[in-house]
Amino acid sequence: MANVIDGKSVAAALRLRVAAAAAGFSARVGRPPGLDVVLVGDDPASQVYVRNKGRACEEAGMRSTIHRLPVDVTQEALLSLLDGLMVDERVDGVLVQLPLPKHLDEQAVTDRVVPEKDVDGFHPSNVGALWLGREGLVPCTPWGCMRLLDEAGVKLEGARAVVIGRSNIVGKPMAALLLRRSATVVVAHSRTKDLPALCASADVLVAAVGRAKMLGADWVKPGAAVIDVGINRTAEGKLVGDVDYDAVVGHAGAITPVPGGVGPMTIACLLENTVRAAWRRAGLPKGELTI
Ligand code: NAD
Repeated sequence: MANVIDGKSVAAALRLRVAAAAAGFSARVGRPPGLDVVLVGDDPASQVYVRNKGRACEEAGMRSTIHRLPVDVTQEALLSLLDGLMVDERVDGVLVQLPLPKHLDEQAVTDRVVPEKDVDGFHPSNVGALWLGREGLVPCTPWGCMRLLDEAGVKLEGARAVVIGRSNIVGKPMAALLLRRSATVVVAHSRTKDLPALCASADVLVAAVGRAKMLGADWVKPGAAVIDVGINRTAEGKLVGDVDYDAVVGHAGAITPVPGGVGPMTIACLLENTVRAAWRRAGLPKGELTI
């Protein structure tokens, strides 16, 4: 039976460490770390995500401001709001909730967030830093997956890791992080041949596809660590991952459930990134930030 990695409790512990660091920052700088979230339109899922991010910030003793813009906001107005946030000293982190309405240029918008405040880690400068092994802000979801692997004591050095999915948000940064830890990494995607056999060769398997229960028992090597990033809703309205959990839990070495695995880590890592950004911007000694 696999070690079921409890993302909820790992995330709760991380949030406590973030709150302690945020309190230390406030005491030294005279203001709390601040996250500004920009939400365009009224997509219900985005509304929920943004609300949760704001609440989590406040619980960790951080300031959070949500900027709600109408669905027909112009590109100019959105960029001008971002430009204001970039020069505002009290703003440490900025994120634009995606997806944006079709008339807006998503790339131009995310590029407008300066690397120092880019708590999503999407700016090309942060992406470059990640691949070059330099300091920067790392996308929250893959960073959370790494924390879960470490928490479960999974050995990464020399391990064969297969990441399914090559998105800029999850798959690619996940591959970079695993490579940084000396895993041998294969990135699989929709055109990959013999995917089940490839996956069955993995010591560490990360699924970030978005297809309910795609990975069955024969996709998983006995004893492998399985990280399920997928969030899918079944016809019955149930939340499931990309992995057929019931089929795999019996012989994987470790596995993250959905819900309660990777999901809770994403917000906790967003808080962590905001405190890291604040710490660096304030010029506080790096060695004194313990998260
Ligand atoms: P995406 O749609 O941008 O990318 C999906 C990737 O899967 C693509 O690279 C594609 O090549 C690959 N793919 C598609 N069909 C495939 C197939 N049949 N075989 C192999 N590969 C295939 O999605 P994303 O943004 O990377 O998100 C992936 C999943 O993770 C989604 O379910 C999303 O909801 C979830 N997600 C969860 C969190 C979280 O906090 N838990 C955060 C981000 C994304």
